[in-house]
Amino acid sequence: MNENEKEAMRHVFKGLNERIEPLTKSPKIKALQKRVIDIRKDAIDRNEELIAIAQESFKENDIDCFIAKDGDEAKEILLELINEEIRSSNLNENEVYIAKSKSNTLREIDATPFLEENGMTIVETDLGDRILQLKKTDNSPVHPTGPASHLTVHDIANIVNESMGLQLPEVPREIMEAVRADVLSLLEKSFIGISGSNSIAAEDGAFLTVHNEGNISLVQNKKLHIVVAGIDKLVPTMEDSVSVAKLETAFAIGKLVSSYINIVAGPSKTADIEKKLLKNMYGAEKVAVILLDNGRSEAIKECLWCIGCGNCVVSCSVYSIMGNEFGYHSYLGGHGVAMSKYLQGDKTSVDSGLYMCTLCGMCTENCPVLTPTYEIIENLRKQAQKEGLSIDQHKQIRDNIKDKGSPY
Ligand code: SF4
Repeated sequence: MNENEKEAMRHVFKGLNERIEPLTKSPKIKALQKRVIDIRKDAIDRNEELIAIAQESFKENDIDCFIAKDGDEAKEILLELINEEIRSSNLNENEVYIAKSKSNTLREIDATPFLEENGMTIVETDLGDRILQLKKTDNSPVHPTGPASHLTVHDIANIVNESMGLQLPEVPREIMEAVRADVLSLLEKSFIGISGSNSIAAEDGAFLTVHNEGNISLVQNKKLHIVVAGIDKLVPTMEDSVSVAKLETAFAIGKLVSSYINIVAGPSKTADIEKKLLKNMYGAEKVAVILLDNGRSEAIKECLWCIGCGNCVVSCSVYSIMGNEFGYHSYLGGHGVAMSKYLQGDKTSVDSGLYMCTLCGMCTENCPVLTPTYEIIENLRKQAQKEGLSIDQHKQIRDNIKDKGSPY
């Protein structure tokens, strides 16, 4: 990120914070927060049990469920499911378009480059993600729900004009309409949709997604819909899932509710003729879910309470200076650094900014589920030290204190 982008991001975050803060202090949200903290703690404590319950529930709901131990395994399952669809639907394998919606988990496993290497065209359907996709380089997101918050309308007009051969003015509506028309024309060629999930209800065998644009509905209605989500997204019931989604929305965008909350609990079906079950009405004919471990079962529980609102990065002083250099992939800020340890190991967490954190604790104060990120980071630093992963400047200070009794 360059300085202009960081400045634009700070400006957007300031406005966002002004919306989020009063709402999250309201008694209604405080009560919801209390409930969701209990839900998330209990769900992570019972994660193994919930995985087993979810597997059964998905089976009952005619959803194929796979458990992937790591990213490679998840990608292999994903590819196999897509190839099976290509074969069974006689699709032209040289022209496979995949409709995709925002997902940290898909980014975590580098699903897009992997599928592209396998000859597929991935169409991001979220406007912010599509802009980043068109940007092509230096295009990591800066916020979970506002991935392009660091780009001004001037930057975005340039990106869209250059990549789509247009001459649009710097007018948000015109840009939005041009991108929408382009995405919709690509989606007409697509029979496969891949998405993440904000929360998964184990007992109901249902997954929930939150969005404003309506794009996820388009993705979920493709002939084959594949969901890839971390095992930490599981909660016991659908009611719990909705509570998580509502709290996430409040802390992510400062609104009580988003335009859409989709709950999917199986492929499309009807029983409107003599109560006989007929599959494949309007929506997806086949639904599959890949539950990804990728180090989560080894992670400390507090790190998995996260509901992905992104409010910790909005309030983080280090993030406001460093931007998305502080974090790992789409896991941003201090919590992202902590997650990177479990997803990729100590070295990655150091490279993601383990020593950048000031341990100020603002992230915890602004986190809906009170994730103690600074404590996690402090402990991870101790572990990294034991692995010999300290930074040269710190070693110098340590040696100075030993030798001269002063850090200088
Ligand atoms: S750690 Fe907390 S504030 Fe940060 S994204 Fe997760 S839930 Fe939101």
